[in-house]
Amino acid sequence: MAPPDPILGVSEAFRADTDVKKLNLGVGAYRTEELQPYVLDVVKKAENLMLERGENKEYLAIEGLAAFNKATAELLFGADNPVIKQQRVATVQGLSGTGSLRLAAAFIERYFPGAQVLISSPTWGNHKNIFNDARVPWSEYRYYDPKTVGLDFEGMISDIKAAPEGSFILLHGCAHNPTGIDPTPEQWEKISDVIQEKNHIPFFDVAYQGFASGSLDADASSVRLFAARGMELFIAQSYSKNLGLYAERIGAINVVCSSADAAARVKSQLKRIARPMYSNPSCSRLSAKDKSGKDWSFILKQIGMFSFTGLNKTQSENMTNKWHVYLTKDGRISLAGLSLAKCEYLADAIIDSYHN
Ligand code: PMP
Repeated sequence: MAPPDPILGVSEAFRADTDVKKLNLGVGAYRTEELQPYVLDVVKKAENLMLERGENKEYLAIEGLAAFNKATAELLFGADNPVIKQQRVATVQGLSGTGSLRLAAAFIERYFPGAQVLISSPTWGNHKNIFNDARVPWSEYRYYDPKTVGLDFEGMISDIKAAPEGSFILLHGCAHNPTGIDPTPEQWEKISDVIQEKNHIPFFDVAYQGFASGSLDADASSVRLFAARGMELFIAQSYSKNLGLYAERIGAINVVCSSADAAARVKSQLKRIARPMYSNPSCSRLSAKDKSGKDWSFILKQIGMFSFTGLNKTQSENMTNKWHVYLTKDGRISLAGLSLAKCEYLADAIIDSYHN
């Protein structure tokens, strides 16, 4: 038997729990106040339009829907970005964030043999599986400092510096999962300095554009900074969270290249990898303190969809076993799974689990 997945396995355990008080804060997915899946109004409108028009069920091209690829690259870089104007971006529609990351990993394995990917410690659990399955070696750079519940910036910089020249550095574009801790604009500048000095290749995972600052442009500023420096970089995008399109599997892989010619060739190679893997993508539908004095205010400072509560494995297990609150064992909760009515119950569960 394979072990349950650390994130989706939590949803399986939640489904099996029959207690009425149960609450699933494991997977990152929005819920209504009634704790039902939430469909955005804009998505409902788009679906109605599509129904009226009677969209067909034809195969998409290997690289996906051309209009989607144009729109997704423009949302990421800004329509006026020189990398777009100069046609230096190879964009291929992938199977959401995961599939786009996996496609890039296969590309790295094929065209950069032996190159390693550096991932943050901690990171979204599936990153390790993706690179393992693609047979791309990876190691970790320091990111989270439990002493400050903040960024270990010095550790991050020295680990990126120490990596062999030409390594891929996996960065979360914004709203880092699972910590909810992002570098400041000044820190991003320094990170890009070191990456450039070492001839590393930045590889962004953008799964939360629109979640960090409330502005789609500002949330893409980390990616745009690297592109403005003339660097070649990879960016995987996901629309699972910001459009609530979890099941549709909508996303893309973008590779910023040094020339339009290089971008055309990279795109052709990405298509060559995609064809035997899954042939073509899915049809896009996109046109304060507790009694003991413990300070929990860091939860308010964290950004994005998740909160890293600081609960350890035993405390997280107490949350599930005693309180029927489901979360990943690293103490991460998805705030999107919470309703107002359940807040007090959750606070009781966290305080009990933390102190006992
Ligand atoms: N990257 C990160 C950091 C994520 O948190 C997620 C979703 N939890 C993804 C990628 C990919 O999600 P999906 O495959 O649903 O787009």
